[in-house]
Amino acid sequence: MLRCFSSFIDFVIKYPFSKEGLNRFREITSERGLYINDLPTTPTGMQLLRRAYEILREAVMKGSITDDPGLGEDELVAHYIAVVLAAHLDKSLWRRFADVESKRFSGKLLLEDPDCIIYMAREFGIEAVRLRDLEIYDERLALAYDVGVKVWSYLRLMPRNDPYWKLVNRYLLKGWVLLTYKELVRLVEEAVERRVLELINKAFENLDETKPLVEALGGLKELREYRASSVSRVKVQIRGLTPPCMEAIINEIKSGGNPSHQARFALAAYMLRRCHDIEGRPIEECVEEVVNLFRTVADFDEKKTRYQVEHIAGLRGGRKFYMPPSCEEMNSLGLCPTNLGCGVKNPLSYTAKAMKRQVQQQNVK
Ligand code: SF4
Repeated sequence: MLRCFSSFIDFVIKYPFSKEGLNRFREITSERGLYINDLPTTPTGMQLLRRAYEILREAVMKGSITDDPGLGEDELVAHYIAVVLAAHLDKSLWRRFADVESKRFSGKLLLEDPDCIIYMAREFGIEAVRLRDLEIYDERLALAYDVGVKVWSYLRLMPRNDPYWKLVNRYLLKGWVLLTYKELVRLVEEAVERRVLELINKAFENLDETKPLVEALGGLKELREYRASSVSRVKVQIRGLTPPCMEAIINEIKSGGNPSHQARFALAAYMLRRCHDIEGRPIEECVEEVVNLFRTVADFDEKKTRYQVEHIAGLRGGRKFYMPPSCEEMNSLGLCPTNLGCGVKNPLSYTAKAMKRQVQQQNVK
């Protein structure tokens, strides 16, 4: 028996959006005759509803979910009710909730043993096989990789807009894309996010039926107001040349942190474009500067970083010079600290605007 399955109940609570989690949720609701829309009519139902709200609230407002293991299988049910409640919120918050749920899932999966990770990947339709079980096995490959994933599975789930995941930057051998366990877990995370979004979309089709749940919780006012306040938080004063999003990533790097791939990509693409397109400096000089910028990240590897930065600069691979993600994209990745408050569409426009302003001020003097 897989270690991750040592207790079935623990497993489904840990991974509510796994196949087992979904099946168990369906069994519980039919076994107990639990009709979700009747929850507000009983004290225990209300308790469950409040827990679901807590999950949703924490995910939306804090970007995390704290488990409540004392609730047993009710904790599993609560995650599904949170999905139903999420469908009543602004669509921009659907992705945020799905993202937090998927990160919660992958954070736990990363701690499991390899068999468990592969089991879970297969459960999400990812054709993954341990490297040592493939006919392409070679000891040198085993130093860098753990698993092979069928190319079609890989293409279906690879994170978009990140050159790190592009197939041209991957080791592809006889139809197998070679990955580490950590990277395989990242594919599972993508699959979980999609599953949660699908479930929210389904719940959205029955909004009228589930309205009583929202009413019993006072109309989800706090979350709706949170969204409204984040939308109206416009007009951040443009100060300095670097936008707050990039400054936040730079600060994380300077303090020896370990920013996500998306954050690293966004910063590298931004700095390269700023250096070359806005400041007009040679691309080789810009690459050097960006590589140096990453020297203080916890897992700095000069060769790897240089390769990736050169790739983003269009000096390698597909020869495409990447743009940094738009502000909308940054916001949905949780990388915009102002909630789209700068009034620009792309972090580069922030810098261009700030430079123009500086020039105007100098002319006035
Ligand atoms: S609005 Fe755009 S430029 Fe400003 S912090 Fe957010 S992502 Fe960066």
